[in-house]
Amino acid sequence: MDAITKLLDFALPPLSLLLFTILMPPSLIFKLLMHVRKSLRKENVANKVVLITGAASGIGEQIAYEYARRGAKLSLVDIRKENLAAVSDKARSLGSPDVTIIGADVSKPHDCKRFVDETVNYFGRLDHLVNNAGISGRPVTVENMRDVSEYTAVMDVNFWGAVNATIYAIPHLKISKGRVIVIASVCAWFPLPLISIYNASKGAIVNFFETLRMEAGSGIGITIATPGLVKTELTLRAKCEFQDAMRRVRMGSASECGKAIVESACRGDMYVTDPSWPKALFPWKVFHPQFVDWACNLICAPSSNKSAIKTNLVMPQHKAE
Ligand code: NAD
Repeated sequence: MDAITKLLDFALPPLSLLLFTILMPPSLIFKLLMHVRKSLRKENVANKVVLITGAASGIGEQIAYEYARRGAKLSLVDIRKENLAAVSDKARSLGSPDVTIIGADVSKPHDCKRFVDETVNYFGRLDHLVNNAGISGRPVTVENMRDVSEYTAVMDVNFWGAVNATIYAIPHLKISKGRVIVIASVCAWFPLPLISIYNASKGAIVNFFETLRMEAGSGIGITIATPGLVKTELTLRAKCEFQDAMRRVRMGSASECGKAIVESACRGDMYVTDPSWPKALFPWKVFHPQFVDWACNLICAPSSNKSAIKTNLVMPQHKAE
């Protein structure tokens, strides 16, 4: 058995690479044809019911407007209910036939049950659930993290909030053959320094929804959005030292990002990244992960903290020795 494992370890990587190289050109043509086919047969969401969490600002607000332009009925959820009325008015003016607003905290499971139930009681159905509500937490190096309880809220909102809302929505989405859209982050693929728990929450959410996609089969569609850096309240709220780092990266616009996400969801895409340029780093991540770490550190770490972050990055190797 050990010999078989050793043979697989030795032979499988080059064989797999060879097969990948051979299949690459036809698979790209196939992907292109599928993209054209899906673009021609986009889902018409007019009069369908879309529930969006974290809809009071930023990407969630823009997703609401994009669905409104397509004639969808909206259930807008946010912890800041007072900010939802204006979003609701604008969504109606853009073409949504009916909008309801619900104040709720996605980190509380009973709130998740309540807003799903209230949506279905009001509209009679649920077609798309957009898990968008998210927080980033205070930027800090892992080494300087004194009390992790300060960061459990990030996991509660970003991960458990999306999980709980989805679990309560599944029975309704199965009836409508609906779709879950989850707003993860490009940080799930390319973690940035200083926001380790945020990166982890987004990595976890990608894994959770990839698992659900396999389990649900064709019963429920799953679109995983991994936005790059987008100008919103979340990015502006970040502390000064992190803003210094963020200035080096060009931020995308929330409206462009919202539009790309809804477009992809209606096309039935598995993934969407907007701005899309970070996708160019994927091959580097696979073949030269140390280069990606170095680039993320160089571009994103605040200059004052660079040496501290480098020390953290080499710590595991030192321990192994
Ligand atoms: P934002 O702060 O403008 O929007 C987040 C919304 O979520 C706010 O309206 C906020 O009130 C709401 N919210 C926060 N905690 C909540 C809770 N417990 N219950 C209910 N609502 C809650 O920020 P944004 O950038 O638009 O973020 C939206 C999503 O996009 C988040 O999941 C974020 O992680 C993700 N994202 C943002 C960026 C970016 O660069 N802005 C990049 C990648 C991913």
